[in-house]
Amino acid sequence: MEMFFDWIAEEGLMDLPISNKNFTWSNLWEDLSLAKLDRVLIDPEWEETFPMCSLRGLPWAHVRRNLKDEEVDSYLSLLELLQEVAVDHGRLDEIVWSPKPYEGFSIRSCYAWLRRDIPATSIIARKYKELWGCHIPLKVKAFMWTLYLDKVLMKLHIVTWNPGINTTCALCSVKEESAEHLFVRCVVARRVWGWLEEAYGMNASFSTAEELWATGNAL
Ligand SMILES: [Zn+2]
Repeated sequence: MEMFFDWIAEEGLMDLPISNKNFTWSNLWEDLSLAKLDRVLIDPEWEETFPMCSLRGLPWAHVRRNLKDEEVDSYLSLLELLQEVAVDHGRLDEIVWSPKPYEGFSIRSCYAWLRRDIPATSIIARKYKELWGCHIPLKVKAFMWTLYLDKVLMKLHIVTWNPGINTTCALCSVKEESAEHLFVRCVVARRVWGWLEEAYGMNASFSTAEELWATGNAL
C-alpha cells in the first residue's frame, strides 16, 4: 500500500470528493464504524478540462441480516480466523506473479504462481498434472478438479445455508448426498463403475473417493 500511496503523491492525483457523503462503507452495527473505501482519483489537468464533474454516492445498501442459529458457529470461526490476519503496514509491496521472459503475463504463468506452494511430490501436484494434461474438454477438467477438492455443490453443502431441504441422494433415495456418496458409494454409481470395469477392464474395487483417485480410474 505504501508504494501505491507514494505513487499517488508522485503523480499529484487528487481524491475527487463525494458530494453527498463522507464515507462509503459502514458496518451498519450499533457500534458504528465508518470508512471511505471507494475513491476516484483524478489528475488536476483532468479537473481543469471537466470542472463541472461531481461524484455522488448511492444510498446505503442494507444487506445485513440477523444470523441464523446454524450460522453462528461459522461466523465465530470466521472472526477467529480474521483475528489472526495482521496487515503489515511496514512491509513493502512486492510483485509475486512474474511474467515469463517471452510470453509475458499469461494464464500459464498465473497457474505457475498459484502452484508455487504445492510441493512437486504432493498428491495434489500429481493429480493436477495428470488432470490438466488430459485431452478432455475444459469443462470436464474443471468439474473433475472441483470434485477432487470436494467443492462440487452437493445437498450436504446446500443444507448448511438452507436447512430443511431433503438431503437424500437423488439417485438411490437412501443415503445422504455427498460427493463421495454420489460418485463412489451410491448403488447407482457402483453399477456404472461395474459396467466400466466390464467394458474397459478398469479396477472398480475402490470404496472411498480417496481410493478412487489413487487408482487413477477417474482420469
Ligand atoms: Zn445414492
